[in-house]
Amino acid sequence: MRRISISGFVSLLLIRLMFTLRRAGVSKSMVALSGSCRYYGLILAKPPSLGKIHDQMLAVLKEHPEGISEGEMRDALALPSDEQVQFGRRRRDLHYYHQIAKKRIGSKVVYIYVGPREQPLDAAPISSKLRAQAIHAAHGRCGMCGRTIEKHGIALVVDHKIPREWGGKTESDNLWAICEECNHGKKNLFASVDSAAMRSAIKHDSVHVRIGELLKAAGVGVPVPSMWLDIAANQDEWRKRLRELRYLGWVIAASRAGVPGGRFQSAYTLEKFTEWPPDATGWIANYERERAKRNRQKKS
Ligand SMILES: [Zn+2]
Repeated sequence: MRRISISGFVSLLLIRLMFTLRRAGVSKSMVALSGSCRYYGLILAKPPSLGKIHDQMLAVLKEHPEGISEGEMRDALALPSDEQVQFGRRRRDLHYYHQIAKKRIGSKVVYIYVGPREQPLDAAPISSKLRAQAIHAAHGRCGMCGRTIEKHGIALVVDHKIPREWGGKTESDNLWAICEECNHGKKNLFASVDSAAMRSAIKHDSVHVRIGELLKAAGVGVPVPSMWLDIAANQDEWRKRLRELRYLGWVIAASRAGVPGGRFQSAYTLEKFTEWPPDATGWIANYERERAKRNRQKKS
């Protein structure tokens, strides 16, 4: 080969660039991300400036730590009408790089600025391979309400178990197939809670703390669907773990919430909680051992 075409030359340059970046600790997948904003966002490890209006939106959010509604934000920015159309998209762009909590106050939904994300939100679409795997694993049954395609004529959609906003990843363990009604109901429920509180609740190592903090994040007196607790606990025995919180003086009431198809799903409402001991799960295991010992002594 005597001649290298221009595109060949550019490819060679790109390969060199990727190699240099990888040596500098930037992974191939990061380099391969398309879009200059994402690209720079990752390499500079700080949220990039997305544009003048994005910056103005951020400034307005930061000026209102108590929260601001979308309408109030539009008014504060006084954007021309052609820019108004782009407002929703811009808010989602910001959400990709910044944690912005959504809170319902009465009938009003407000946005509260939390801080920049450590990493941009995983906004990659679910690949067709992962989608097919989730559908195959479902065997025609909704993972949430249990209705089937065959018997109930439902349609399945592939969805994140732990929402991306709570830090859920787009990987097979975190994907499931659920019916359209359940998906819709789930989206409404997720929209009503504070994502930042949920994100921190499900990060704890102790399963008891994950369950307890999730209930606390939802609030005292607020019924939490068992699905959320199942997700946060991430283990089959979560109901037992939840009951064990009473050893710490917690009071949790069980109730039932309606799900599509006239079925019911259990929910749990936090009534009282206490401070965590240093090692909550260890403390509870020890309490159980002592209790078993006392019971044996009583019998003999
Ligand atoms: Zn369902």
